[in-house]
Amino acid sequence: MSKIDKSDRINIAASPWSVFRWNPTDGCKVIAITHPLSVIYEAARHRPVSDAICFPKAVMLELLPLDDASNPFHLHHMGQAIDEALVADAEDEVPVGCVIVSLARGEVIAKAHNQKERLQDPTAHAEIVAITQAAASLGSWRLEQCILYVTLEPCAMCAGAIVQARMPLVVFGCTDPKAGACVTLFRLADDPRLNHRARVVGGVMADRCAHLLSQFFARKRALGKK
Ligand SMILES: [Zn+2]
Repeated sequence: MSKIDKSDRINIAASPWSVFRWNPTDGCKVIAITHPLSVIYEAARHRPVSDAICFPKAVMLELLPLDDASNPFHLHHMGQAIDEALVADAEDEVPVGCVIVSLARGEVIAKAHNQKERLQDPTAHAEIVAITQAAASLGSWRLEQCILYVTLEPCAMCAGAIVQARMPLVVFGCTDPKAGACVTLFRLADDPRLNHRARVVGGVMADRCAHLLSQFFARKRALGKK
């Protein structure tokens, strides 16, 4: 292993993820990566990151591009969105879950699931409920340093809300062949004609997200046949 100069290292404990910087000109380009790894280590070890853990900058930059669907930061938060989808499933709602992470605050600021049936509200998709929560949490409709994670590709309404909220990045699980408006049927989130565009990363834990939905609809069909 090649020797790593101390100046090439980032001390994770000394650089909490709340100091993560968003580069406004390059969108998703990461300037200071600290928290994705600290989150992984916390998740893996179930305890705070030790002062002693250091990673070479180059390795971190290579391992953690935010537009990579296998980025562990995305997997970690998609796991939380799946937990929300499971709550929807238990409530007999179409199982879609969403979480929003504020990079400025370094924390999850919204968690929501689909509540269309319970509220009898066609707009109560997981993303809309979460965006409302996030805006209330920040006291601002501008979610400019937030990443939205959702288990299913956003529909036209939700992709529109993501653009309205000025979100820089949306990460989804499985595609939606019937209503997907980020890559499948339309590309609303990053349409160059709009005055704001969100980067889109799809396919994060797609199989797990899709399985929840197919199980739910299979169960519904089985009940319908009885
Ligand atoms: Zn939607």
